[in-house]
Amino acid sequence: MNLIFIGPPGAGKGTQAETIVRACGIAQVSTGDIIRAAIRSQTALGIEFKKYADAGVLVPDDLVNRLVEARLVQPDCAAGFLLDGFPRTIPQADWLQQSLAKSGLRLEHVLVLDVADSAILERITGRRSDPITGHIYHLRFDPPPPHIVDRLVHRPDDTEAVLSKRLREYHDKTAPLVDYYERLGLVRRIDAVGSLHDVSRRILTVLGVPPSVPA
Ligand code: AMP
Repeated sequence: MNLIFIGPPGAGKGTQAETIVRACGIAQVSTGDIIRAAIRSQTALGIEFKKYADAGVLVPDDLVNRLVEARLVQPDCAAGFLLDGFPRTIPQADWLQQSLAKSGLRLEHVLVLDVADSAILERITGRRSDPITGHIYHLRFDPPPPHIVDRLVHRPDDTEAVLSKRLREYHDKTAPLVDYYERLGLVRRIDAVGSLHDVSRRILTVLGVPPSVPA
């Protein structure tokens, strides 16, 4: 099963992706995570990415496409993948269509996580990730165990100032993808407001994953 997640920053893509890939036995492909790993390792590409990520603007399409191309040929993607944070622009989506067609692959569902801009600020500013497990917590909605709080990381772009730029990028460049995939009959809209568990259940129901699988 090959899936795409589309949603604004703070819609819960990364958190929900963890549950979905476990339940479906597919690989999570998060361009944001790949980009942050390159930034941490201070590769030449990472130093270039940092300028864009810190400013809350999108990295140029050809650079991201190349990251995804290299990732999708990894063995864990053979059983299927969930693209989390890609594509983010129409040219990226065009590139993906061509690349999948060349490999004889197709997308099954494009999951659009619906959440209003007004609900996003609190979600983003309270978000903390665990560098050891990769798990994303929220200080209020999904509090971390006290003994790991000191090691948690607050993303530099998860601030109010950068968020408004990221939201503008989303509405200008990424939201048009909903119509793009609607024309291909692939869009499944998910109400992403509610508890993590409720949203996971909604997604798994759309995917037809049996309710016996823990969400
Ligand atoms: P995310 O964790 O998905 O919010 O991504 C964090 C940052 O990485 C974004 O603000 C962009 O600078 C960059 N990024 C991630 N995915 C993409 C993409 N598909 N296209 C361009 N830039 C991206």
